[in-house]
Amino acid sequence: MYQNISRKYRPQTFQSIVGQDAIVTTLKNAVKLGKIAPAYLFCGCRGTGKTTLARLFAKTLNCHRLQDNFEPCNACPSCLAIMQGKSLDVMEIDGASNRGIDDIRQINETVGYAATQSTYKIYIIDEVHMLTKEAFNALLKTLEEPPSTVKFFFATTEPHKVLPTITSRCQRFDLHRLSPEQIVSKLQQIATDLGATVQPEAFQLIAHVAEGGLRDAESLLDQLLCYTNGPLTYDETAQILGISPRSLYFRLDHAIASYHLSFAFELASEIFSSGKDLSVFLDGLIEHYRTLLLLKLQLSPSSYLSEKDRQEYSQSAAFYTQEHCLALIDYLMHWYKEIHRTPFKRVTLEMILLHLIRSQKRVSLPQLVRRLEELSNPHSPPVQEKAPLKPQPLPPKAEEPPASLAPISQPQLAPPPEIAQEPISENKPTEPLATKNERQQKSRHDTLLRFAAVELEGVIKRD
Ligand SMILES: [Zn+2]
Repeated sequence: MYQNISRKYRPQTFQSIVGQDAIVTTLKNAVKLGKIAPAYLFCGCRGTGKTTLARLFAKTLNCHRLQDNFEPCNACPSCLAIMQGKSLDVMEIDGASNRGIDDIRQINETVGYAATQSTYKIYIIDEVHMLTKEAFNALLKTLEEPPSTVKFFFATTEPHKVLPTITSRCQRFDLHRLSPEQIVSKLQQIATDLGATVQPEAFQLIAHVAEGGLRDAESLLDQLLCYTNGPLTYDETAQILGISPRSLYFRLDHAIASYHLSFAFELASEIFSSGKDLSVFLDGLIEHYRTLLLLKLQLSPSSYLSEKDRQEYSQSAAFYTQEHCLALIDYLMHWYKEIHRTPFKRVTLEMILLHLIRSQKRVSLPQLVRRLEELSNPHSPPVQEKAPLKPQPLPPKAEEPPASLAPISQPQLAPPPEIAQEPISENKPTEPLATKNERQQKSRHDTLLRFAAVELEGVIKRD
């Protein structure tokens, strides 16, 4: 009979649990010392192994032939019954569909009966946060004074929704997300066992998409292995998962480096016609700039890179400064949150891509401040000596910068040059060289100020 990967490879011993070492040690010690709490609460995001751990612990407590290392035997009648979901002593209840007071009353009524074939009677309530308030209160009565042979194991993705009176009576365990390395290593074991050949980059991609949930990663692997009999490549994986391949991002890097503006429209059309989810594309792009930034900081990238990708990345890294990468990540994060709200998805995508390409020629804010500082330096000789600078209202856009920007912008922008016509026309007949220089400098300063206004406006709007 076909069994999906996550069921087939569900850990049956503590040893095979991935990435929750502290919790496993605590549970094993509880068995070793005979200190079993009346209730346990397993919290964590989906697919991290909450119910698996609860079931495993139940199996250990009720095992007839517990191993020396406090692992269940997986062969005694109790272990087998729990593994097949037929145990009369370990009851699994779905909190989402049995959330009312009557469901909990039923539990309360059966609590008094002893276990039939093992030591403990164990109730595993999944998604316990879904219980109604009345149900929680009914449960509380039993939790306050449970018979010593009755244990409650709760699992939840949203512990903050569980009543504090319940959580305070439980030993709480927070399962954390698995690292990509842990997921990749587990997937590799599974693929080897199944005799499937999968590229390491494909594993990395699955781990990235699963966001720390092993069950999601296993389900994806299951789906991908149905697609092909031969080796599973990175490109196939990306295609099936609807993710843009890295080559697409490298092409964008080259367009940015060569200021190829029309590429924005070509790429947007390509992404649109392929039907890819825009937030998935932006997520990939953020990850791309993150990798570039890590490489620029000489840190190792978080995802596995093939030799070819490494070469591509080192080539692309030369197109950006650290500051530029940070600014782009910042910009893309903003749009990642906003993209689903806009009704004009295609135009928005084109605009985002145009902005990325144009960012190549954009003067960064720190650079701009530096240049303004140079210009407004009171010791810079020609401007100060001939014509003392008079304050002039700022260009309209920058007139009222928010308080947070004031300390930076005001000192730089306070003494702008006077772009009055009189001094220039007065000097026109002779116009000595110094005045000409001064005029040029004033004009440059003025351009910079206007530019600053546009830049700051951008910052103000986005904040
Ligand atoms: Zn057993």
